[in-house]
Amino acid sequence: MYDVVISGAGPAGSKCAETLAKAGFEVALIEKDTNWRKPCGGAINARVFRYYPQLRNFDFHKINKMTIFSADYHHFGYHWKDPKNYSINVDRLEFDNLLQNFAVDAGAILLDNNISYDFIMKENRKIGVKAKTSSGIKEYKGKIIVIADGMSSKLAVKSGLKEKWKTEEVMLTKCAIMEGENNIDKDTISLFFKSYKGYGWLFPLGENRFNIGCGTMGEDNLNYNINEIFNEFLNDPNIKKFTPNTDYKKIWIGAYPLPGQGVNENSLYGENIMLIGDVAGCVNPISGEGISPGIASGKIAAETAIKALESEDISKRTLKRYKLHPTIKKISRSFKLSLSIADFCFEKQGQNFAKMCRIAENDESFRETVVNMFLFNKAPPKDFITRLRSEN
Ligand SMILES: Cc1cc2nc3c(=O)[nH]c(=O)nc-3n(C[C@H](O)[C@H](O)[C@H](O)COP(=O)(O)OP(=O)(O)OC[C@H]3O[C@@H](n4cnc5c(N)ncnc54)[C@H](O)[C@@H]3O)c2cc1C
Repeated sequence: MYDVVISGAGPAGSKCAETLAKAGFEVALIEKDTNWRKPCGGAINARVFRYYPQLRNFDFHKINKMTIFSADYHHFGYHWKDPKNYSINVDRLEFDNLLQNFAVDAGAILLDNNISYDFIMKENRKIGVKAKTSSGIKEYKGKIIVIADGMSSKLAVKSGLKEKWKTEEVMLTKCAIMEGENNIDKDTISLFFKSYKGYGWLFPLGENRFNIGCGTMGEDNLNYNINEIFNEFLNDPNIKKFTPNTDYKKIWIGAYPLPGQGVNENSLYGENIMLIGDVAGCVNPISGEGISPGIASGKIAAETAIKALESEDISKRTLKRYKLHPTIKKISRSFKLSLSIADFCFEKQGQNFAKMCRIAENDESFRETVVNMFLFNKAPPKDFITRLRSEN
């Protein structure tokens, strides 16, 4: 019997496992496939170093500039000068494997090639997780169960805490890692917002490598086809200025959904169970950034589990502390605001977004607010939308 069984060794699950194992608890970290590269832009802001200070010692591609484009190609740039605040762009396969190794080094048991699909039940209680493996069904019993297996989670739905994602609740995205000569500034990540609910990105990954992708959100998931949007984005003349070649080598390509509605506050915890990361909706609904918030949720869920195990009370009442944690509340609040700003920006075929870019081009403090919102999940001031509405 483990103290905690975690399904999914993405950033959220690995951080949760590492925190618990460091505190001396027995942890099973169940993972479908550690060789799977999660479809992702791989841009991670400096907040990640709060949770993993040791990452500063690794040779990731560093970023200290951002450019945001509106649908009519108004744009503004931002350069954050404090050297400690650099972001990193990562290849998700390498990054996820690294975080899994941190969890294993701390003492967690990583169970690879295990596909969790159901709970072990006893007297109406969930007492563990069943997983499919090449050698048959395996059962992992645990006092607390943490669901961290992302958007495809079967356990989250079986737990009764949440329903299957509806199409308009997610962002649908497709991206690729490509290699070849390009004109992308090596220090800059670029976001390209559209006249529909969606955006594209260009993230440098090294001398000749880059991550390119795009996605749609909300009702526009039903109005646009992600494969067509992706091809259009690759061939857009404005994008071709950055990637002029016709024969980029595709290192990898993938499509995947991500949560688009912010934190699912009503489905974060239940009787001896917690949901973290993407399963819990921990993704900024305007920027799609979910790695740092997912890691934060994993750490806080682990700390909640530690208190519950130490007090021998793993009930729903005790696990509620996870939802009430100031950081979870802050993330949740900031994502609610981002969602309403996203809705506003995409009104009038993206004209409000263009207005935001125009103001940011000329007003340094407004520019900082916008960048903080996109990059650091910081809530903008209350009069942000009022100002946008009042500007011509
Ligand atoms: C195209 C795209 C681009 C993105 N770009 C960015 C970005 O640039 N920056 C950013 O911060 N965020 C980005 N995100 C969001 C980010 O990828 C997620 O928010 C983040 O990965 C969430 O981490 P997680 O640990 O919750 O879930 P995941 O990273 O999805 O990890 C879930 C883990 O569970 C495993 N798993 C799944 N099912 C099972 C099962 N049945 N049994 C066992 N294991 C299972 C998976 O193999 C995986 O390892 C992007 C998302 C997409 C789709």
